[in-house]
Amino acid sequence: MARTFIEQRLIIASHNPGKVRELGELLLPWSVEVVSAAQLSLPEPEETGLTFIENAKLKADSAALMANLPALADDSGLEVNALGGAPGIYSARWGGPEKDFDAAMVRVNEEIGNNPDRGARFVCALALTWPDGHSEVFEGTVNGALVWPPRGERGFGYDPMFLADGDTGTYGEIDPEKKHANSHRAAAFRKLIDACFPAA
Ligand code: IMP
Repeated sequence: MARTFIEQRLIIASHNPGKVRELGELLLPWSVEVVSAAQLSLPEPEETGLTFIENAKLKADSAALMANLPALADDSGLEVNALGGAPGIYSARWGGPEKDFDAAMVRVNEEIGNNPDRGARFVCALALTWPDGHSEVFEGTVNGALVWPPRGERGFGYDPMFLADGDTGTYGEIDPEKKHANSHRAAAFRKLIDACFPAA
């Protein structure tokens, strides 16, 4: 049985303003006061884990222990069948210091080469850690296929080459609300809410 969240304040343990905004919006119905790691000047720990869950947990653990408040962290990425799951936890790093995801998408497509398996999935891990060190972790995935060339200007990262199963447009083309309702992040978030947050 997961621990119930009853506190009033929660750190979003991310320095990515997009993630802080998205998770803050998802938490609105639960009247939790959300504060970001950047607002508290918390350092960004090095992502030394070997799984999404490990990396999400080390970010949440670090913020919770340093600030003495519960902390929620997210780690996510793209797993490509033909590349044995790469870029996986290295998805952000494939964008390089300039976070150039046009170049990262070219690399993914080149490395797949002529392999007929274009299957891929987005994965999102969420970790919620309390200051006493207790943690709950959740993972959400969405399966799809990679298209080439990339399509659409919406979204971020690898969105323009990802066509989720059942969709007719890539994550770069479809309405962001549709993406947010069905994405890997939404799936992980639903599990977190079901387990840790009493009904709004
Ligand atoms: P993180 O900040 O280490 O979790 O990096 C996640 C990386 O995975 C991002 O920089 C993106 O490249 C990729 N990624 C994760 N979720 C998505 C998504 O919803 N769309 C596109 N790319 C994503």
